[in-house]
Amino acid sequence: MAGVLYIVATPIGNLNDITRRAIETLGAVDLILCEDTRTSQKLLAHFGIEKPLQSYHQHSALQKTESIIAALKEGKNIALVSDAGTPGISDPGNQLVAALTVLGQDIKIVPLPGANAAIAALSVSGFPTDKFVFLGFPPVKNKRQKYFEELLACEYAAVFYESNFRILKTLAEIDALNPDKGRRALVCRELTKMFETVYRGTVSEVAEKIKKDPLKGEFVAVFEGKRG
Ligand code: SAM
Repeated sequence: MAGVLYIVATPIGNLNDITRRAIETLGAVDLILCEDTRTSQKLLAHFGIEKPLQSYHQHSALQKTESIIAALKEGKNIALVSDAGTPGISDPGNQLVAALTVLGQDIKIVPLPGANAAIAALSVSGFPTDKFVFLGFPPVKNKRQKYFEELLACEYAAVFYESNFRILKTLAEIDALNPDKGRRALVCRELTKMFETVYRGTVSEVAEKIKKDPLKGEFVAVFEGKRG
């Protein structure tokens, strides 16, 4: 019988956010695929899990994907994790899942839900979130304006990821294009970690607040939907 591929969410900071099911599954599979073996090794060591780890990322060779599919077909159970949060969400994972589905392989793929920075930010936004848009990371070079225009045109709350190096530049570019200066934004820094900070206000107010703190850590931003 073929094995199962488990897509396992891991914490985005606070290790207590791992689920019991994730710990049980990681402790039971034959192999764990991860982005950075050193990062995942630390997580596994924290929970006393000793399992073979193999790196797997978006640029992994087709050969690697094929050997994973072969192992699953032989009956091996495999878990896939990313460095943090939910695999496949601005993280590797989709490629392997796509390969398993597109090729019509008869292999079960099981999600183990858990932490995700975008959903955590939305949950404290206070904006209507019965519908929302996730835009991933803004492009670093080309097509930035197009991306921000798309963001500002959203009628629903729009959430995106950004690095500490670019968060202020990104907010300034959005503010310059934004005709509705009263539209609210929320930026979360280091969610679930020691220096967790939630900045609320208009785009320019949020940027001013961020400037007062050390520009360190990971950021996720939410914009309320277009008003009027
Ligand atoms: N798969 C992950 C998830 O489920 O959230 C996201 C991976 S993406 C490569 C990493 C980005 O997510 C970071 O650059 C940051 O924008 C955001 N992020 C991850 N952890 C975060 C945290 N603890 N606080 C704020 N943003 C975070």
